[in-house]
Amino acid sequence: MSKAEELKAVFAQLAEDLPTLPLGNLNENIVPGDGDPDTQMMFIGEAPGYYESVQKKPFVGRSGQLLAETLKEIGYPRESVYISNIVKIRPPDNRDPTPAEITAYRPYLDQEIEIIRPKLIVTLGRYSMAKFLPEVKISQVHGRLHRVKWHDTIHYILPMYHPAAALRNPQTKTSFVNDFQKIPKTLEWIQSQAEVEQLASQVEQALA
Ligand code: URA
Repeated sequence: MSKAEELKAVFAQLAEDLPTLPLGNLNENIVPGDGDPDTQMMFIGEAPGYYESVQKKPFVGRSGQLLAETLKEIGYPRESVYISNIVKIRPPDNRDPTPAEITAYRPYLDQEIEIIRPKLIVTLGRYSMAKFLPEVKISQVHGRLHRVKWHDTIHYILPMYHPAAALRNPQTKTSFVNDFQKIPKTLEWIQSQAEVEQLASQVEQALA
């Protein structure tokens, strides 16, 4: 099965499970992850808003426009990355997702991450950051790369402000844009790190 087919199966399962899930009875659309399943980079937001629910696509409203523009500025069209959310259904009045909702939708996001196996995960806002870095403050760690063991695998996590926060506050927007400028070099560094680790394991095997 291709990654695209595997992802399709995840969201087909979500559609089947929906009546038993929180937010499942709201008559809102499922908003699946979107983008290139073979990408090196995955972005995780919070929850869909009105436009995302209508278009069944994450980050298509004002936050999405800022995300797409900022990605383009660093040479990555939005179609070249994969974008998803912690919660796949729009919460009423765009409120923050509750802990029970985050827990209920976690298996679907976890499967997306395991299928995509991104080299770099960029978290947008504090909810997706808390999935990997539960005890930090976004104001202190945004734009700094973290190496995290998650589900027995090392992942590189780059926490960023949420684009909605950037739209509300010019200072946050400056940080958001500056943090994005670090992405290309960060990806290069992760790639070189992977090569070093591969070489080290080859040497280790040869010496064993
Ligand atoms: N905000 C999010 O966190 N996700 C979306 O898809 C849209 C806005």
